[in-house]
Order: sequence, then structure tokens, then C-alpha cells
Amino acid sequence: MISEFNRFFTSKTLASTYKPTFLKCLLDLGDYKEDEGGIWITKNNNNVTVDLNFVAARFLRYYHPLKFKFKLKQEATAKRIAIYRILEDFKELVGVKTAPSKKILCSESFSEMRQITIKEGIKPQVLKKLLNDCNIYSINKGSNSIEINKDVVKFMKDNKKILESALNHMIAKYLENCNASPNISTALEENIPRKKLSTSKFDIIIDLQSSRCFYCNKEFERKEFAQEHFIPWNFIRQTEIYNIIAACTPCNSSKSDRLAGTKYLNMIIDRNEKLEKKPYGYSTEFMKNLYESCRIEYHGVETELWIL
Ligand SMILES: [Zn+2]
Repeated sequence: MISEFNRFFTSKTLASTYKPTFLKCLLDLGDYKEDEGGIWITKNNNNVTVDLNFVAARFLRYYHPLKFKFKLKQEATAKRIAIYRILEDFKELVGVKTAPSKKILCSESFSEMRQITIKEGIKPQVLKKLLNDCNIYSINKGSNSIEINKDVVKFMKDNKKILESALNHMIAKYLENCNASPNISTALEENIPRKKLSTSKFDIIIDLQSSRCFYCNKEFERKEFAQEHFIPWNFIRQTEIYNIIAACTPCNSSKSDRLAGTKYLNMIIDRNEKLEKKPYGYSTEFMKNLYESCRIEYHGVETELWIL
């Protein structure tokens, strides 16, 4: 069994992120909550029968933020992969701001979306193909279900964290080939903490801005400032001093996760030059490149930049 996983992790190239994502969904078999698809799991003597609805709900849960929140491309060409197309087609139902929970994706209202995911994503792309690299289940012909040996389920449960990290690494490696967005592995975690700059560091920034909002230049009390990620957090997924500015609440919420106009880029570049300790590796070029990548891959070149 371990050798089957080893074989998978040493397989040379991936054609997509489908296979590791499929395995990531199966990792849940050891400790799913009853209302997160328990009805699709049947335990027999030696085997566990898994209805693919269980996998489809998780598939949607994992791909949702990659498409809508982080806007990560799944391949280098413009051709859309099936799972992104399905998410797009069901955009109204599924919403774009936050990914629905596994429980919601397992509910009746998502039945059609799950069926299409099975039919157009999972079955043609991964179900049989994965068995070539990792023979850990068998397909029940004529039904949308697979059989997994109980020992395999136990192994996945006992080693969930290790396997999850390894699978996420594989997915991140693939995504890094077609996205310039940094910190891709963070985007694959289920609960992503959004760190804040320490008060002492944020104080440095407020002082550099003479207690004025970076955008509207109005004066505010220290406590009224929000830590605003100049290049949107959804693109950069880290909180570093070179990218944090002090903004008033109206400016902060007006800008939201958009990219600000180039005059502001020049302003933050000037501001960063005044930092006593610049982060290691920081340069004006670095900031400009990051801004440009964000404009192309996250904000959209056609979309107007945010200006107050
Ligand atoms: Zn303001």
C-alpha cells in the first residue's frame, strides 16, 4: 500500500491537478462528518464503498477558491478545464465570494452540479487513469462508485496530514508552472489564516504616512487605520511590511481586492525606500514585477485599476 502511494508521488509529470485532488478528497474517508456525505459511504466486511458524490462535493470545495478567490490558472493555455467550466456554469448557485462548506455541497440543491462534475470531470479525467499510478481502489462498473479496502482507508486516516501535505505540494508544483502568483501552497490549505503586521511595525508605517490615509491623505487617529494590502492579499497571500499601507476604512473598503492605479504604485515604492530595514530581497524592480503579474493574472488587464 505504501509502495502504491510512493509510486504515485514519484510519477513523473502531471497532465493536470485532477489526480492529486481526487486523492485529497479520498483522504476524508477516515474522518468525515456524517452530514458531509456520510450517506454515500457503505462499510462492508473488508471494503468501503464510496459513491462518487462524496468525491464530487469535495472536488468542488477544493477547486472553488482556486478559481474564484485566487484566480489561479490550471494550465498554460486558455482552454478551460472541465471543473472550472462547471464552476462557471453554476456560478449563481455556488456563489463566488466564499466556497460553500462540504456540508452544503453535499446537499440536495447541489445534486445536478455534482452529477456533472462526476460525468464531465471525474470519470473521463481521473477515475481510471489514476489507477495506473496508484492502484488503491477498484471501480464498480455500471455505478458511480468505487471500492476501497479498509486497510487503505485506515492508512489514509493515520497518515492524513503527511499525505495531504504531499498532495498539496504536488498540486502547488503543477500550478507554479502556469501562475506567477506567489505562495501557491498557502492557497491550497483549507483554513487560511490572514496574518496582521505587528503593532510596532504598523506604527512605523503610520508614522511614515504622518497619520494620513495613504489614498485620501486625510488625517486619522492611529486606531482608525486598517492594514491594507496594497497588492491584494488574494494574489500575494502574505503580510509583509513592503506591501502594507495604512488606509482609512472608507478607502480600504472601496478598494477591496482590486489593484490600485500606477500613481499609488509609485507612492508605495517611494514609501518603501524610506523604510529603515527593507525586507531581504526587496527592490523596486521586485515590487514592479509583482504589481504587473497581479495586474495580468489577478486583476485583469482589461479591468480598470482602482483610483480614489
Ligand atoms: Zn482614505
